[in-house]
Amino acid sequence: MKSLRPVRGTHDLLPADQRQHRHVIDAAREAAALYGYEEVGTPILEFAEVFRRTLGDTSDIVTKEMFTVAQGDEDVVLRPEGTAGVVRAVMTGGLTQSLPLKFFYSGPMFRYERPQKGRQRQFHQVGVELIGVAEPLGDVEVIALAVQFLRRIGVLERTVLEINTLGDTQSRTAYRQVLVDYLSRHRDALSDDSRQRLDRNPLRILDSKHEGDRALIADAPMLGDHLTDSAAAFFDGVRDGLQALDIPCAINPRLVRGLDYYGHTAFEFTTDALGAQGTVLAGGRYDGLMEMMGGPAVPGVGWAAGIERLALLIGEAPAVSRPVAVIPVGDAAEGEALRLTQALRAAGVAADLAFRGNLKRRMARADKVNARVAILIGDDELAAGAGTVRDLDTGSQRRMPLDAIVPFLCGGGSVEEAEDVPAREA
Ligand code: ATP
Ligand code: MG
Repeated sequence: MKSLRPVRGTHDLLPADQRQHRHVIDAAREAAALYGYEEVGTPILEFAEVFRRTLGDTSDIVTKEMFTVAQGDEDVVLRPEGTAGVVRAVMTGGLTQSLPLKFFYSGPMFRYERPQKGRQRQFHQVGVELIGVAEPLGDVEVIALAVQFLRRIGVLERTVLEINTLGDTQSRTAYRQVLVDYLSRHRDALSDDSRQRLDRNPLRILDSKHEGDRALIADAPMLGDHLTDSAAAFFDGVRDGLQALDIPCAINPRLVRGLDYYGHTAFEFTTDALGAQGTVLAGGRYDGLMEMMGGPAVPGVGWAAGIERLALLIGEAPAVSRPVAVIPVGDAAEGEALRLTQALRAAGVAADLAFRGNLKRRMARADKVNARVAILIGDDELAAGAGTVRDLDTGSQRRMPLDAIVPFLCGGGSVEEAEDVPAREA
């Protein structure tokens, strides 16, 4: 029989991977909590409309990357990103009366893309959303939070913050015409995708990864030259805030985000350590999003980071915390060993009891789980109501009454410095 395999573009998170993911998520959650962002969870399943209306009919995600899971009157899809669902939840939950809202989320996202390094069909994100704040200080806050998160996981130094403004609607309308005029003169040189976008959504062409397009884009007029005064002032406000916080950033006038709902600030933390998939965290302002969903005009700004890409940057997974191995020597001690193991766990000390085996096998097991301490209980110890506590790094050991062992290990006691309680050696 052919053996079963995971679906293309999906990955198992075996313990080391899961530990790595957990480390990234914990760091993001902790950083978010410092800024007052509370965790929320939204369903993985959403109506396709949630994304169609907001990401735009011409976005890559909507045109070719969505996983549709049910075909009824209304399509249901696996969520490709987090923001639209969070904003939908804010509306559904009637939370637009209690703005501003500060939310953190994490979880799997799904996009039907060509799998490669740093690009999966099921991947995972952490993200934050600040909803109901129209001031540049909101943008500054979410970027500062991103900086603190990336510093916590030790990758900040290997990234650069690129930032741009997409202006307000008026800026984009003016620019759109200039851009279409320019690109139309080079229509024949454009990729098929981009030629189609020329009429429907020309700004999206700036995000094209096609080489020929990129050459044309390099010489294209820039949105930054067509900003209204208020859009320019907004961008200045964001940059002033970042400067006040000593957060360095590079202005990238070509940076656009691939989704319709963005306006004003767009930013990305990128690295050159991951090849083509160099964006580890990306975000921006989405003031029109809630209205696109049929809700009130409530502004928002946020970001999402790809956990897999961050994990690649971090490299080695953090170590597992080291347990205590309880080792009965001979059958008679098994009951006492089981009781002691449970007492350790109840007191919050991670403890491992091998299910079977002689002393040698059990010591090998202790080594395998990287135990810091072994507690040996043999016939002698049993008779004395004691256990031998052995530091597995130094080899030194002490015999202690069984009921003294839990408090000793809870207190983080060192075997070297401990009193040798009843004197007989094992
Ligand atoms: P890209 O240009 O790399 O396709 P994107 O603009 O589609 O990225 P966003 O929608 O902004 O990405 O998602 C935010 C982050 O999520 C990305 O910066 C990246 O780290 C991660 N990400 C996006 N798509 C994938 C994927 N298919 N596999 C792994 N991570 C992804
Ligand atoms: Mg993409």
